[in-house]
Amino acid sequence: SRPPVRTAEEKLMVAVRIRPLKPDESQRVLYAVNKKSIILEDPEKFDVLRQKKGVDKQHHFDVVFGEDSSQEDVYNVTTSTLVKDVLNGYNATVFAYGPTGAGKTHTMVGDREHPGIMIRALNDLFEVVKGKEDEYSVTMSYLEIYNEQIRDLLNPSSGFLELREDSKGKNIQVAGLSEISTTSTDEVMQLLQKGNKSRTVEPTAMNKTSSRSHALLSVSVKHSVPLDKKDHLRMRVKHGKLFMIDLAGSERANKTKNRGKRLQEGAHINRSLLALGNCINALSGGARYVNFRDSKLTRLLKDALSGNCRTVMVAHVSPSLTQRDESRNTLIYADRANNI
Ligand code: ADP
Ligand code: MG
Repeated sequence: SRPPVRTAEEKLMVAVRIRPLKPDESQRVLYAVNKKSIILEDPEKFDVLRQKKGVDKQHHFDVVFGEDSSQEDVYNVTTSTLVKDVLNGYNATVFAYGPTGAGKTHTMVGDREHPGIMIRALNDLFEVVKGKEDEYSVTMSYLEIYNEQIRDLLNPSSGFLELREDSKGKNIQVAGLSEISTTSTDEVMQLLQKGNKSRTVEPTAMNKTSSRSHALLSVSVKHSVPLDKKDHLRMRVKHGKLFMIDLAGSERANKTKNRGKRLQEGAHINRSLLALGNCINALSGGARYVNFRDSKLTRLLKDALSGNCRTVMVAHVSPSLTQRDESRNTLIYADRANNI
């Protein structure tokens, strides 16, 4: 069967999720107006005489998930079709973007009562594969990129791992990365939570649990299908990969008032995020040449971000006045991906 021809719109979906306002956050400046638009209020809209000064800004996206959106909703709209693609031998990527505290890990991993995208995607895959273990093989790996260095989150004691590729720049692999095959959702939840505890989180001035690393779950599905319906001896293997990524906080290095080590981290993190943004822009704009070489993250995602693969970006924002600047930056980044 021929590969589907996808339009730029089909290749890239930009979604924005607003996390609920917390009890200690008193003022809301951002809200969903409908399923595709967000309004960011200008808090200085009124001066002392209640005259209008600033203006509210409206942003449009493929999908907007409001404060009351459910984990199930977010998964169904953003990722369930990617799972079908992967079963058919295509690569796909979903990533969570946004500042620390905006809800990225909640969306991607969640908890036992509110399982996130990673858990639901694997669960759906396991449902399809159940009882057909001779036809399908599912393996997964979980790694972090911190300071442009790769660590195995399923085996953190293995140290820094090398990215290897063949002389043509194809077949990118992480040398020594553990690959686990399981079809138990419970086990996956445990593995991810344990892996997340090994993620490099260090205190910064802004947020004690600020996450400075990218966490990348890669699920590989191999499906053996007969070349011919009448001939079950000659098989071909359809190989699809699903990447699910909990990106490092997008807040700017300068805002955390860090010096030295932290500042360098910020530069690395922004390098990966910038490179990712540039690749996505170029791809959705149909650019002929895209530079994946700029960061470890984009090198790893090269195969998944090119060709007919689908990519979903879920940008995360807080509705709180205190986070307004970060929300604004996040909407601008998401807009840039969306508008091309
Ligand atoms: P990030 O990974 O972007 O730093 P988290 O996912 O850790 O942010 O979210 C920060 C806090 O807000 C956590 O306590 C999380 O449980 C809560 N939270 C985030 N998004 C939601 C949501 N959609 N519904 C309920 N709680 C949420
Ligand atoms: Mg997080």
